[in-house]
Amino acid sequence: MEGIVVSGSNNVFAVLCEDGRRRACPIKGKRLKDVSGEYNALAVGDLVDVEPEAARDGSGEARGMISALRPRRNVFGRYNEKGRAKQSIAANVDLVVCVASPAFPPFRPRFVDRVAILAEAARVSLLIALNKVDLGVDEETEGRLAGYRDLGYGILRCSARTGEGLGELAAALRGKTAVFAGQSGVGKSSLLNALVPGLGRRTGEVSEKYARGKHTTTMAELFAVDGETRIIDTPGVRRLALRGIEPGELDAYFPELRDLAPRCEFGHSCSHGDEPGCRIRRAVEEGKVLEDRYESYLRVRWELEANAEYSAKEGWSVPSARRGDGARKAARFRGREDEDD
Ligand code: GDP
Ligand code: ZN
Repeated sequence: MEGIVVSGSNNVFAVLCEDGRRRACPIKGKRLKDVSGEYNALAVGDLVDVEPEAARDGSGEARGMISALRPRRNVFGRYNEKGRAKQSIAANVDLVVCVASPAFPPFRPRFVDRVAILAEAARVSLLIALNKVDLGVDEETEGRLAGYRDLGYGILRCSARTGEGLGELAAALRGKTAVFAGQSGVGKSSLLNALVPGLGRRTGEVSEKYARGKHTTTMAELFAVDGETRIIDTPGVRRLALRGIEPGELDAYFPELRDLAPRCEFGHSCSHGDEPGCRIRRAVEEGKVLEDRYESYLRVRWELEANAEYSAKEGWSVPSARRGDGARKAARFRGREDEDD
C-alpha cells in the first residue's frame, strides 16, 4: 500500500496511507536503500510502500512497516552541523515558501538567500512571504523585496494578525505541496494556523519550542489543507548550513550570477572575490548585481571552501591554495554577524 510520510521522530514515521488511515511505521529491516548516510532515514513528503499490520484488539493506533521508498522528485534539505550529515527535510515539493518579517525579528537577507539556494538546488520555485506587514515595512526591506522580485522570485505581503494577504497566500498554495521555512518568531505558526483548518498550533512560545527541540529529533510535519493542497512545516532553525555544492559552481544557484560567471575572464578558477578584472566584481560595481546578494554569495562560498574536507570526501577537490583562505575568511565573518546567517 502506498503512503506519504507526514511526520516522524526517533525512526517511527507517521504515514498517511492511500486507504485514508494514518499508521505509525518503523522501517522494515531498519534501513532503506538510497538514503544511507543521511541524518533522517526519510523526509516528510516521501512516498513509501507500507505493509499494514493486522489491526489489534481495542482502539490502539494503526501500525505498519515501511518496506520501500519511492524515487524522490526533489528534496529540500540542509546540512545538519551537529549530526554532521546531509538532512533531507522535505521531499516531492512544488513550492518553497520563505516566511520573513520586516521587524521583530528584522528582515534577514542572509537567511532568505540560503533558502533561495536550497530552492534552486531542489529546482523548485521560491515565494517570499513577508509577514507582519501590519508593523509597517521600512524602505530598506522594500528595496530588498524589489531585488528578489527582479530575480524572478515570488513576493507576497501578509499579516497573520490582520488577515491581509492571506487570501493571496492561500491562492498561491492551492493544488501544491509547499514547504515553509523561516526563522523563529517571524509568525510561521500563526500563518499555518490561519491556513490549515483546525490546526491550533501554539504560537509565540519560544522557550517551549526550544525545550522540545532538545530531547527529540523533531522532523518537519505535513498538513493537508484540502485534497490537493499540502503544507510542510519545518522546525524553526537559526542557521541553514550548506554543503555539497562545489564552491566553483555556487554561482549556478544565483540567477543573476549564473549567466555572468561563464563570462568571467578567470572562468571556474575565479572565486569572484579579490581577483582584479573579475566579471562578477565589475557587475557589482556597476550595480547590476546587488551588493547584498554578492555578500551572501561570498559568505556561502567561504563556508563551502572552509569545509572542503567534507567536499573532498564526496569526491570534489578544492584547489589547495584556496582552502586556508576560505577558512580564515569564514572565521572572520562568523565573529561579526553570526545571527545574520
Ligand atoms: P514562529 O516562531 O515563526 O512560528 O512565530 P509565531 O507564529 O509563534 O509568532 C511569533 C510572534 O509574532 C507571536 O507573538 C505572534 O503573535 C506574532 N505575530 C505573528 N504574526 C504576526 C503578524 O502578522 N503581525 C504581528 N504584529 N505579529 C504577529
Ligand atoms: Zn570572477
